[in-house]
Amino acid sequence: MADKQDERKVTPRSQDFAGWYNDIILKAELADYSPVRGCIVFRPDGFAIWEALRDELDKRIKKTGARNAYFPLFIPQSFLRKEAQHVEGFAPEVAAVTHGGGEELEEPLIVRPTSETIINHMFSQWIHSYRDLPMMVNQWCNVVRWEMRTRIFLRTAEFLWQEGHTAHATREDAERETLTILDLYRSFVEGFLAIPLVVGRKSAAERFPGADETYTIEGLMGDGRALQCGTSHFLGQNFARAFETRYLDEQNQLQYVWQTSWGVSTRLLGAIIMVHGDDQGLRLPPTVAANQVVIVPISRKPEEGATVLAAARDLFDTLENAGIRVKLDTRDGVSPGFKFNDWEMRGVPLRIEIGPRDVASGEVVMARRDMKGPEAKSKAPIAEVGSRVPAMLAEIQKSLYQQALSVMQKETREFGDYAAFKKQMEGEGGGGLANIFWCGNPECETRIREETRATCRAIPLDQKGLSGKCMVCGESATERAYFAKAY
Ligand SMILES: [Zn+2]
Repeated sequence: MADKQDERKVTPRSQDFAGWYNDIILKAELADYSPVRGCIVFRPDGFAIWEALRDELDKRIKKTGARNAYFPLFIPQSFLRKEAQHVEGFAPEVAAVTHGGGEELEEPLIVRPTSETIINHMFSQWIHSYRDLPMMVNQWCNVVRWEMRTRIFLRTAEFLWQEGHTAHATREDAERETLTILDLYRSFVEGFLAIPLVVGRKSAAERFPGADETYTIEGLMGDGRALQCGTSHFLGQNFARAFETRYLDEQNQLQYVWQTSWGVSTRLLGAIIMVHGDDQGLRLPPTVAANQVVIVPISRKPEEGATVLAAARDLFDTLENAGIRVKLDTRDGVSPGFKFNDWEMRGVPLRIEIGPRDVASGEVVMARRDMKGPEAKSKAPIAEVGSRVPAMLAEIQKSLYQQALSVMQKETREFGDYAAFKKQMEGEGGGGLANIFWCGNPECETRIREETRATCRAIPLDQKGLSGKCMVCGESATERAYFAKAY
C-alpha cells in the first residue's frame, strides 16, 4: 500500500513548478505524450474538462449570433500567400502536405494553422449585398503549428480550439464585435473557469499577423508567469482586400467588408491547472469538474459494510437526481486515506465521507478541496446534503476565484525604475505582472524583451488622462502596460 501511495503523489508545486505541472497531467490522467513528436493525447479525464468548457462557451458564442460551421483541414498554399503579413507570421510554423494517393500534388496543401484565408475565400462567394451582413461563423476544430518544444496543453504542434470569423458592413460594427467577444471571453474565463485576468490590446509586435489590432485576456499562473488565455482580432480590411471579399452597399457601390476573428484553445486546460493547483495536485472549478462530488464510504468491519454502502448509494442517488456530477468510490483493497489523496490529487471539488458512526447519527463529513486543514471539513445532516451541495459548489467556485485573484494582486507590481524592474524579472520564479508607463516606442519594448525576457502582455483599454515617464527611456508616456515573462 505504501508504494502505491507514493506513486500517486505529485512533485510539490512549491519545489518544482514544471515537474509538478507534468506530474499532475500524467497522474491525474488528463493527457499523455504521443508517439508523434509535438502532439499529445487527451485522455477522458482531461477531455471532459475541455467538453464542459466547450459546451458552455459554445452556448455563449451562439447567443451573440454566430453559428457553427466547418471548413477543410487543408488550405491551398497560395491562399496563405495572399496576405503578406499573414504568410510572414505563419510561414515558420506551417506543416504542408506535398503528396497524396502516392503522387506529388501540383500545389502543396497547408494543414491549417488558422482559417482566415479559406474562410475569406468562401465569404467572397457568399457575400454579395449589405443584406448578407453581418456574416458570423465559428468553428470548433484542430489546428497545426509546427512546434518541436512541447509543453502539454500550452504549446503543442496540434491543438484544439474554436475560431470565430465575422464580416461586417462598417468599421464600427467590426470593432464593436471584436470588443463584444473580448468581453465574452473575459466573463467566461473569470466566471466559469474562476481565473482572474488582465485585459487589453496587444502591442504592434505581439499582434496577430494580418490584424490591425489584437485584444487579449491574460492570466497569471502560479509561478508568476503570464499566459495568454484568448485573443480577439480586428482585421480591418486586410483579408477582404486579399480575397476580394466585397458587398454592394445601399447605394449599389462595391465595398470591402470589415472583419474580425477570435479564438480560445485547449491552452485553457493548462491555465486551470497552473492557476488553481496546489502541492496536493489539481483543484478543479466545479463548473468543469467531471466529478463535482466524490462519496467515499468508510467501514473497517465487514458487518458494517453493507449498511454504510446502502447509505452511500442513497446519497449518490439523491445527488445525481439533483443534477450533480457525482462519483461513488467503492474500490476494494485501497484504504480510505488512499482514496482521499487520490481524489484530492485529481482535483474533485467536494468529498463526502460516510462511516458507520455517521450513518448512526444521520450525518456525513463534507471536505472541500479549495480549503486546507480542519476548516475544510464540516458535518451535514444526511437529509440536507442534497440541498446543501449545490450551494457549497457555488461557494467553492467563488473561493477559487478569490484565491487566484489575491495571488494576482500580490504578484502585480508598479515599477517606475527600470533597474528595480530588471531585478524583479531576474529573481526566482516568473516575476509576476509589472505595471509600467511605456512610451509606446518598440525600441523600449525590444530592450525589455532582450534584457529580461519579459514581453508586453496587455495595454489596458480606456486609459484617459494619464501622464508619466516611460520606465525605459524616460520620455513622456500616456499609457500604462502590463509586462511579464510568459508561456
Ligand atoms: Zn520609452
